[in-house]
Amino acid sequence: MFLQMTDETYMMIFFGVIIVTIAVTTILIFRVRKEKRRFKEEQAIILEGLLTKTALVSSINTYLAKITSDIAFSLLYIDIDNYADIINAFGNKDAVRALEKVAYHISHNLPKRVQMANYKSTQFLIFMRSEYDRFQCLELAKNILAIIKKPVKIYHDISVQFTGSIGICFYPAHGRKFNQLMNSLQLALQSAKKQGNNNFAVYSSTMTDGRGGDVEYHYDIKKAMENKEFELYYQPIINVATNQIFGAEALVRWNHPKHGVLTPVQFINTMEQTGDINWIGTWGVESLTQEYLELKKRFPDNAVLFNMNLSPKQMMEETLPQEFLKIVRKYNLTPDFICLEISDFSLAEKTSIIKQNLYSLKKVGFKLAINGFGLDYTALSALERMPIDIIKLDRHFFENESFINTKIADLIIDFARKHRMMIISEGIETEEMLKMVCDLGIDLVQGYYFSQPVLADNLREYIEGAKWKKGNDEEIVLN
Ligand code: C2E
Ligand code: MG
Repeated sequence: MFLQMTDETYMMIFFGVIIVTIAVTTILIFRVRKEKRRFKEEQAIILEGLLTKTALVSSINTYLAKITSDIAFSLLYIDIDNYADIINAFGNKDAVRALEKVAYHISHNLPKRVQMANYKSTQFLIFMRSEYDRFQCLELAKNILAIIKKPVKIYHDISVQFTGSIGICFYPAHGRKFNQLMNSLQLALQSAKKQGNNNFAVYSSTMTDGRGGDVEYHYDIKKAMENKEFELYYQPIINVATNQIFGAEALVRWNHPKHGVLTPVQFINTMEQTGDINWIGTWGVESLTQEYLELKKRFPDNAVLFNMNLSPKQMMEETLPQEFLKIVRKYNLTPDFICLEISDFSLAEKTSIIKQNLYSLKKVGFKLAINGFGLDYTALSALERMPIDIIKLDRHFFENESFINTKIADLIIDFARKHRMMIISEGIETEEMLKMVCDLGIDLVQGYYFSQPVLADNLREYIEGAKWKKGNDEEIVLN
């Protein structure tokens, strides 16, 4: 009996030891793999003379733990603006070499004890301790922009030129924890980019306006997608020649549980950074397709064209045309009821993926539009080489009548006719603007004069009641 008990106990201990050993080994293997992966990732972005991201973050956190809040320090967050262009022009290897040289020049021109790390791909973080004040920090930002702009030789007779944008924030005014400071930096960087490239911006609380700004959005977006908080609004496009609805532009809104309805400028940039912008694209096409079927059921005689915006970042996704096509085909439709609006078409000149995507989208049946075409008529020559169906004229175009604007408008209209492109005038707010546009012979118009962007239900009501025929109605509230 005693012996039997001992045997059982031994067996249990034996199996116990085996299970524990397996568990410990698995955990160890997992940890080693994770560490190896992290090391590999870090190696991939270590550039000569720079700290690793982990080392710099740890240095900042150690400093944060040591200092009191009456001590101030500065952080700078740099992004190289036109890296993708250099890759496209010279390939990845030379672009990396050029970037390394720029990073080397910046790091070798930093004041004493100022540290710099390659934070991710083309972004660099700089840590200036309390011995430097805000003015010295701004001076440094200016110097860095100048360094980035200096031509970099990649071969003996070939140089490339970058520009950079810099976000700046100060501890403790703009955050007391590392994550808060990083959020402030991201917002400041976005703001610098919005001013055009080759700029720096210091974080300010207006960047997180009363509606919450972008700070929390990094965390909220994933949840919002799951909770279906995004919604498409539709702004009707009217054909004033036939007095019929021509189509509608879909504009995304975020019903934020805390901040109310947010417009795209408040979150699209963040989504571009996180990569969630691709989700907006596929979700948008699916929502549009469903709404199209709904409209077809209600108004079988009305052919409505749906416009949807794509950012240049979305256009960089090679699989985009096939993904979009797959969605539309799932509903047994062809994509000719969707017109994709692209904004910065000058990019399409330089970027082969965008160009290729434009042709593929066109080939599979999507219509294409240029969004927000301005007074730059020299851009027409670029348009000539693109498979575009519609030019959307910017509202600033018609805000004030001038001889030169009218001449440029004539030129564009003439160009569109020759190339069988349509023109839509956006942002028509007043009777005068509408008259100006009509006098130029533009029939397709869109703007608050006819309707604000509205929810799908309201769009159906709008079509049913042919409300555009009533013109500027009572509910118009300008943004
Ligand atoms: P956009 O394509 O130029 O869109 C027109 C913007 O002008 C819209 O702002 C619209 O609400 C506004 N608007 C319309 N009529 C008038 C008017 O009469 N007067 C004035 N002052 N404004 C008018 P919104 O909805 O805030 O969109 C801003 C931009 O966000 C859009 O500019 C577009 O580039 C981008 N966007 C919107 N939805 C999406 C989307 O689903 N994906 C992507 N990638 N971008 C989007
Ligand atoms: Mg648009």
